[in-house]
Amino acid sequence: MKTLQSGLTNKILIVGPCSAESKEQLRQIASGLSKFNLNYFRAGIWKPRTMPSSFEGVGSIGLTWLKDIKKEYSLKVCCEVANPNHVEQCLNAGIDALWIGARTTTNPFSVQDIADSLKGEQMPIFVKNPLNPDLKLWIGAIERLQKAGIESVFAVHRGFSLTDNGIYRQTPLWQIPIELKRIFPEIKIISDSSHIAGKREFVASLSQTAMNLGLDGLMLEVHNQPDLAKTDSQQQLSLQEFENLMNNLNITNTDENYLPETIEVLRNKIDNIDKKIIELLGERMVVSNQIAQVKKRLNLSVLQVNRWSKLLSDRMVYSNKKQLSENFTKELFELIHKESVRIQDEIIKKE
Ligand code: PEP
Ligand code: MN
Repeated sequence: MKTLQSGLTNKILIVGPCSAESKEQLRQIASGLSKFNLNYFRAGIWKPRTMPSSFEGVGSIGLTWLKDIKKEYSLKVCCEVANPNHVEQCLNAGIDALWIGARTTTNPFSVQDIADSLKGEQMPIFVKNPLNPDLKLWIGAIERLQKAGIESVFAVHRGFSLTDNGIYRQTPLWQIPIELKRIFPEIKIISDSSHIAGKREFVASLSQTAMNLGLDGLMLEVHNQPDLAKTDSQQQLSLQEFENLMNNLNITNTDENYLPETIEVLRNKIDNIDKKIIELLGERMVVSNQIAQVKKRLNLSVLQVNRWSKLLSDRMVYSNKKQLSENFTKELFELIHKESVRIQDEIIKKE
């Protein structure tokens, strides 16, 4: 059996229920998880809810339960904090690590208050991405904690709240954690596939995508009776589903020093193709420039809606024949068109 002990070496694993509901519930989950080599057992004590009538967590009593779980099952425990008072209570209770939720990361004042309350302390802090797809806000929160002297700051990717999240509860926008990794390769990023998914059936495949992208670990919600959970019942995995996920997860190798020669050859090909794409885009913008001169002379508007509609649908039909997805082609040409409009607008404005 490919368990965590072997399969997820070098990956960080944070698992547990969305919320602590009772000591018995925590015991059952911790006992079911004890054969896995977890880095942290998670459970929310103070729950940020949209509506005040929803279950807002058990509060401070949950800290004493987590303290007992820590002792009984030799697990490190973590929970969410949203203000300095939470931090103080967690420090007093001997909680091993903390996470900052998405709603809190969205507010720099709150993050700064938390960072100030952690001055002089050393414990791992996991920073979820903000609700909105704003990489700078996420980086800002991480930096506030680093500036307060915290040495172990981790990022948690939990997806972004857009008006249309497709099949998921949150939209992954994988390019954002990828960009974070590019800018700060030393910051470890954990994938919270549960909150991206919103439904348990999507958790395994999202976790695999996170591993394929070389992210550094997983934060997963697991419950002894998911359907009866007081929060996030649709996305929490049963203990059996978690075990299946662990057995089937393929951990990819992220070490760039062990790339075979065949990849080098293929990468050279890609480099040459990209060069041609850039040259063609350059040529295309020169033509846009010439069109702008004509439009200026004839006092024509930059945007000709019918032409743009026809261009886009023609490109989509053609790209379909080349096995390119419609979405990709649409986004690509919207970007090219935006740049073309920008160039033409500049020229027409010039005296
Ligand atoms: C949670 O982890 O249970 C939680 C509330 O997460 P988020 O802040 O990502 O919504
Ligand atoms: Mn949750």
